Amino acid sequence: MKIVRFAWKGRASYGLIEGDDVYGLDGDPFAALKRGERLAPLSELRLLAPCAPTKIVGVGRNYAEHAAEMGGDLPSEPLIFFKPPSALIGPGEVIEYPALSKHVDYEAELAAVIGRRARNVSVKEAVDYVLGYTCANDVTARDLQRQDSQWTRAKGFDTFCPLGPWIVTGLNPNDLAVESRVNGQVRQRSRTSQMHFSVAELIAFITRVMTLEPGDVIVTGTPAGVGPLQPGDRVEIEVQGIGVLENSVR
Ligand code: MG
Repeated sequence: MKIVRFAWKGRASYGLIEGDDVYGLDGDPFAALKRGERLAPLSELRLLAPCAPTKIVGVGRNYAEHAAEMGGDLPSEPLIFFKPPSALIGPGEVIEYPALSKHVDYEAELAAVIGRRARNVSVKEAVDYVLGYTCANDVTARDLQRQDSQWTRAKGFDTFCPLGPWIVTGLNPNDLAVESRVNGQVRQRSRTSQMHFSVAELIAFITRVMTLEPGDVIVTGTPAGVGPLQPGDRVEIEVQGIGVLENSVR
């Protein structure tokens, strides 16, 4: 199923996509996915980031070739960081190039959306706690990341977490194609099978540290090929089985 979040009568609402249409949800997508009435064609709705997390947990250097291009080794344990929920934007929204940075990179990533509260979850049961998957762009001010001893500023600007276009349930996350394109030109192309730590291993690790709530997001790391964005660029993140997340830069 495809779960979408959109502006409806002045509020953020969840729905289900079927064909070209969006149906309402009876209740909460984290409780039961029960289809309601038909609302509108998908093309007529303004889509929002597909969930409203209490936290967004990022994972650094989770693909060997990306760790190498950053000049570092693969970590022995997942290297986690936060992006603030205030960084979220939806499909079609604008990534604002901050005045404080002169080098802003795109990072194509698979994002896992948590479906129910998770604490001390085992690797074996971890994916049962996932509602579904979506595409993320872990936008990063690379100059500030190198300058600061931690990544809060570099990863945390408003608009630095494009997410969407929707959440797909029932997807196996372990071997999906991940691609980024800038102005139509392919920049990153890999598969989630190349991750150093799998989605299940990441969830098990993170939930030994912190409780994950329904709607929380894990951005699982980016493959090699990161590079700079310029104002006016159009960046697309595509994950197999999900769709394309498109944003422009201003
Ligand atoms: Mg990243």
